[in-house]
Amino acid sequence: MATPVSLRSIASYHAHIYFKDQGERDKAALLREWISSRFVVQIGNWHDKTVGPHDRAMYQIAFDTDQFARLVPWLMLNRMGLTILLHPNTKNPRADHLTHALWMGEILPIIRPEQLPDAVTDMRDAEISPNTAPHLTE
Ligand code: ZN
Repeated sequence: MATPVSLRSIASYHAHIYFKDQGERDKAALLREWISSRFVVQIGNWHDKTVGPHDRAMYQIAFDTDQFARLVPWLMLNRMGLTILLHPNTKNPRADHLTHALWMGEILPIIRPEQLPDAVTDMRDAEISPNTAPHLTE
């Protein structure tokens, strides 16, 4: 008999913002600025080359669970057609990306499944160190 997974297993969330051409790259850069000035999040490195696990250029935003209720609906309204993967960070990165994920836009295939273990014990990667200084409320 299956049992539900507790919300307590979610340490934090990632939003991966993807872009496939110069037009989308410009939108992704603008979205990055908009997010930085509005939300307490950890903005990740910009990747013009595919770094996986999905086959598209992207950057990542990491955020604590208390940001979800504002940031996620804000992304729904402001993603400008960009594809975004939203996933929880639990002790199972493979399930987080393949089963627990929420997509806005396209669903991109995984190209490097070996990057996604199905169990981790060290959750330090899921800890958030915010690097934004928001000064706008919306
Ligand atoms: Zn991620």
